[in-house]
Amino acid sequence: MNARNCKKCGKIFNYIAGPPICPACREKAEQKFQEVKEFVRANKSASMKEISENCNVEEHQVKQWVREERLVFASDSPIKLFCETCGAPIFTGRYCGKCKKDQANTFGAAGRQENTANPAPTGINNSARMYSKK
Ligand SMILES: [Zn+2]
Ligand SMILES: [Zn+2]
Repeated sequence: MNARNCKKCGKIFNYIAGPPICPACREKAEQKFQEVKEFVRANKSASMKEISENCNVEEHQVKQWVREERLVFASDSPIKLFCETCGAPIFTGRYCGKCKKDQANTFGAAGRQENTANPAPTGINNSARMYSKK
């Protein structure tokens, strides 16, 4: 058992993965997220401060949800986000569509190479070898 202190309430809980937050606090955060999401949808021109005050949530938590691409701002929102790679204006996450695509291409190419390195005939060769041993 990997016991950890919850970052929010300090309670010791069985840590599995992700941020060190206990299940109770995670549940609370999820409810808060839904509240914030609704608020942002209903108040497209709300600033970060207004969201924070109206939903009683810390700004850094809101920013965290934005980085996770769970919270998306409207194009006319006063909250401005910029791509961490090229500085283009974005509405959620950390990178603009173009930079994300560039990254996906890099990762995608690596994935495809792995797939072609293990083509189906390998299995046939193995079974043929096994057969000849008999
Ligand atoms: Zn907790
Ligand atoms: Zn970019």
